[in-house]
Amino acid sequence: MSTVYFADFRCSSRENIFSKTKKLFLKAGFGDRIAKKDFVAIKTHFGEYGNLAFVPAPVIRTLAELIRERGGRPFITDTNTLYRGSRSNAVDHLENAVRNGFLMETAGAPVIIADGLKGDDYASVPVESKHFREIKIASAIHGADAVLVVSHVKGHELYGFGGAIKNVAMGCAPPSGKQMLHSDMKPKVLADKCTSCGMCIKRCPADAIRFDENKKAKIDPDLCIGCGECTVICSYEAIPVIWTTDHRPLHERTAEYVKGIVDTKPGRWMYINYVMNVSPQCDCYYWNDAPIVPNIGILASTDPVAIDRASADLVNRAAPLPGSKIADRDGSKDNLRALYDLPWDYQLEYARQIGLGDDAYELVEP
Ligand code: SF4
Ligand code: SF4
Repeated sequence: MSTVYFADFRCSSRENIFSKTKKLFLKAGFGDRIAKKDFVAIKTHFGEYGNLAFVPAPVIRTLAELIRERGGRPFITDTNTLYRGSRSNAVDHLENAVRNGFLMETAGAPVIIADGLKGDDYASVPVESKHFREIKIASAIHGADAVLVVSHVKGHELYGFGGAIKNVAMGCAPPSGKQMLHSDMKPKVLADKCTSCGMCIKRCPADAIRFDENKKAKIDPDLCIGCGECTVICSYEAIPVIWTTDHRPLHERTAEYVKGIVDTKPGRWMYINYVMNVSPQCDCYYWNDAPIVPNIGILASTDPVAIDRASADLVNRAAPLPGSKIADRDGSKDNLRALYDLPWDYQLEYARQIGLGDDAYELVEP
């Protein structure tokens, strides 16, 4: 059984989100995982411009200061995206980070886009797993001595749940690695719902969508890389996520990818999850829908499976918020299932099976 440290968001004149973050960092023993002069990557997500659900820069600053106090050299990092948007190359990504508040002055450490200018700066690492013989890890993360993974917990349209595991897998992979993770999710257009607006064609990263002879969007499955972008960008629900597709291979690939990444630095990974602004979708979209549950708290652990399981359990135990996507949820489903009816917990079960961590946990409030 793994230990997960937890602090709620009740605050007063004596305690705030910074002091609680610091207490959890110390209690979880993160200081012991950092040696003098270590390069320590703070792996977070700067949020697409227009989305404000991500973990804000002043919280990251608290963590950067703690790393520096232990003699480490922190830097804040993320990787370029597979889809077009404000984070698909290092120039746009850095501009986006600044617009969302991630400057040296505010976030307390320099920002480095881990996979370089065009997302092609990565290390290939051999692995032996069911789905992979090799994985790709963004160079700055691969080169760091230790990694503090700072995750915003939310729902997710492909995984059902997004936490530390998703943050490490997609977040430490360059775009081509993300493609390897996504590869068998290929949506189709419902022609009768397509209004020919062309938005999906503009946003498809693989140029896989064309208009057919009736000016309805059509996806070429041989070009589609399964990134799922068009399913969200279409405002007319003409490109639904394929619920009949077995999401389990995606979860398996994700867990295996994370195992391959963390095995490159045994004992040097730390995880902190913020269960706040729990939006239905990931922070890669340029909006964040109303949170589905109240802000719950902060969790810290050295076990990515345990911290995600504990975070998901807390979300599922909370009352759905009025006016949110799950306000009228079917009582037979938990909160995360109510979002997309996805087997959100399979990623955790599979991660436990392959030895990434333990989904049995003890929640300790220091
Ligand atoms: S975004 Fe939707 S409505 Fe617009 S062209 Fe694509 S499928 Fe059709
Ligand atoms: S057609 Fe495929 S590659 Fe293009 S946006 Fe949709 S899922 Fe992504």
